Amino acid sequence: MKPYGPIPDWWTAERLAALLPMADAGTPLFVYDLGQVETKIAYLRNSLPGIVSIHYAMKANPFAPLLSAMVGQVDGVDVASGGELAAAIAAGATHISFAGPGKTDAELEQAIIAGVTLNLESEGEAGRALHIAARLGVTPKLAVRVNPPFALKGSGMKMGGAASPFGVDADRAAALVRRLIDAGADWRGLHIFAGSQSLDGDAVAEAQAATVTLAAEIAEAVGVTPPLVNLGGGFGIPYFAGDRALDVAAIGARLGETLANRPAILRETRFALELGRWLVGEVGIYFTRVIDRKESRGETFLVVDGGLHHQLAASGNFGTVVRRNYPVAVVGGEGALETVSVVGALCTPLDRLADQVQLPRADVGDVIAIFMAGAYGATASPTAFLGHTPAREILIGQ
Ligand SMILES: *Cc1c(COP(=O)(O)O)cnc(C)c1O
Repeated sequence: MKPYGPIPDWWTAERLAALLPMADAGTPLFVYDLGQVETKIAYLRNSLPGIVSIHYAMKANPFAPLLSAMVGQVDGVDVASGGELAAAIAAGATHISFAGPGKTDAELEQAIIAGVTLNLESEGEAGRALHIAARLGVTPKLAVRVNPPFALKGSGMKMGGAASPFGVDADRAAALVRRLIDAGADWRGLHIFAGSQSLDGDAVAEAQAATVTLAAEIAEAVGVTPPLVNLGGGFGIPYFAGDRALDVAAIGARLGETLANRPAILRETRFALELGRWLVGEVGIYFTRVIDRKESRGETFLVVDGGLHHQLAASGNFGTVVRRNYPVAVVGGEGALETVSVVGALCTPLDRLADQVQLPRADVGDVIAIFMAGAYGATASPTAFLGHTPAREILIGQ
């Protein structure tokens, strides 16, 4: 096999060929490999200090069979809507936290009744949660999401160090925590998320250390030990040529040092990392079939039956500034390389899944594999756009 771009080692030509019958049964298709998720979770757990829990941020991939399987292996699930909350409960999750701005009263009520920890995003949301809990006669589990005064350096999406719809500015966090405690809530701790998709291990370690320091400052200002400090996530995965995978073992070792030296007020605190992309991004492939092969002004286009309505990220229209090609391969393709563009079936020039990449020749009927499709794919794409059918999804490796 001659893929374009870096693909995870385990996606060998043999493994891909073995998946062809699934693609033959119907494309477009996402395949997720549970075995690889399990390997990643085990490696992460081995790398982290024992007092650090692993949470799955399910918005990365909420496919029900995958979520159900992961629930038994992670320590908690982080949800960001009432819909995700219902899905997490249906999947059997018992340790759930609910972050995200714009929670409606109905969502707050749903979470409080379910005994879920609410990561409060503002003083206003805190007031509504307390009010709803009082009406229900329930003690709510409330944590405060803090907008940190620093950002995770080198991250694809910075989440701190600036004005933000997420969390309460750090200098107001202690006052809000005090208010929750005084109102009789079960204060669950702090949630501090500084960024996403970082491939800079030093930057991740520094952000974690700064997060522990900030959490201790807030706790000291309140005078109460937080039961949990959620350190956020930010672990990136290599999408493009030249990207290097994070050294998670090194990050875990540095976090171990940080926590060994943590301030006394955090002595009894547990910690958590919440990861989406790192856990599931590399384990997914999007398969799509060539419908047409055409030439235009000297360029070759492979027109496929899928597109950005399933895999928006690969088209470069999901949170990217400069469009770059995701790793891609012609399944079973072995011939001489040619330069082609893989374009989706949508009637918009945005629907370009690979732009002028070098691939073995593919013809009508051949299957194209687009890698790194396990996170922010099927549910992060505009499925209804242009009225095509959704992609099928299959979990393998169970
Ligand atoms: C989206 C999100 C995550 C997951 O981010 P990844 O980059 O997929 O790891 C974690 N925590 C919160 C609060 C989020 O909103």
